[in-house]
Amino acid sequence: MISTLNIFFLNICIIFLILSVTFYLMRNRLPIQKDSKVSTRFYFGLANGVTGILLIHNSISINGAFIDLRLLPLALSALYGGPISIMTTGSMLLLYRVGMDIGESLTALENSIITLVSFIVLIIFCTWFIKPKGYLFTIIVSIGSFLVLVRMLLGNAETHAWQTIYLPYFLITALASFLFYRLSYMLQDHFVLYSYQSYLASTDQLTRLANRHVIMDKVATLEREQAPWGVILFDLDYFKAVNDQYGHAVGDAVLRHFSVLLTQECPDEVTIGRYGGEEFIAIFPNTLRSSPTEFAQHIVTTVTATPFVMQDHALAITVSAGVAFAQRQPASTVFKQADAALYEAKNNGRNQSYLYSN
Ligand code: GH3
Ligand code: MG
Ligand code: MG
Repeated sequence: MISTLNIFFLNICIIFLILSVTFYLMRNRLPIQKDSKVSTRFYFGLANGVTGILLIHNSISINGAFIDLRLLPLALSALYGGPISIMTTGSMLLLYRVGMDIGESLTALENSIITLVSFIVLIIFCTWFIKPKGYLFTIIVSIGSFLVLVRMLLGNAETHAWQTIYLPYFLITALASFLFYRLSYMLQDHFVLYSYQSYLASTDQLTRLANRHVIMDKVATLEREQAPWGVILFDLDYFKAVNDQYGHAVGDAVLRHFSVLLTQECPDEVTIGRYGGEEFIAIFPNTLRSSPTEFAQHIVTTVTATPFVMQDHALAITVSAGVAFAQRQPASTVFKQADAALYEAKNNGRNQSYLYSN
């Protein structure tokens, strides 16, 4: 009894662990549903296939017979990913079943494969016709348990086998299914929320650029690596006047307009972000002094050439930029230097970029 409970507990841990790791690794693809990307449904099917194989390996011994919970990963695949996930999980279980040599007779293997294939076909059929998730899951688990009963009755099971083996099997399967129906939803919700919170914590909500926190993290990494890196501070010119003349909402739209330009023009390896109110930043990792300087000038020119278009007229905007280059000095010094360069650009008449030099 104790060892049966022990293996049952182990099975529950296997399902829980693989489901949690899968949802964590796929957190940017959640929620998994029938119209998710094919690759998402395939990966989910693969993960459930691994669970199924481990469950077969850790089957529970009850009154001399071995039962396993492979039905559950198949039902989870059906519930979330539909036919593609079921077929992936099912194919893995079939291949494993054929490849596994446990010294059983050919008829036993054939019976087992026929049961599995019938089950896979039936649950694919169910996913097409039954939409409410709760019903779908209950029906799939019921069909699976029923097929196990049919197989047992058709085999040369003893008269009382349905009481001594099938009943415990049914209870264990029903208990695990009940547990994982709710738990899988709770786990998925948890990781959806986790991804959303990470996104909120790292993104500026107005412009959707990285926020200051992400930028400082990036800089800390570069500082540790001691590689040369460059920084550009951008500050929109006379922005207060835009707010005063056209209102805060237009000011916000101008900030978004500038961030779109910055994103479009930015090379892949550069991290851009919103540094403060109307200040933006670009971090160049492992760079030569020339690249940030050229990019800063390119942005200044592009912004001048791309006015912000409102309903009835175009609003010319300009930006100033300060560039500094890190060699051995601490990041805080590099930022002060970029700030000093920006101050020079403003003082020299704005709408220009300036490279810090001592
Ligand atoms: P300068 O050329 O010297 O940079 O002049 P400026 O007017 O841009 O400089 P200042 O720093 O005095 O003004 C920045 C303004 O940016 C003040 C503030 O109201 C505005 N601002 C800061 N954050 C936001 C925001 O999120 N939305 C809007 N609409 N305005 C903002
Ligand atoms: Mg400013
Ligand atoms: Mg400004």
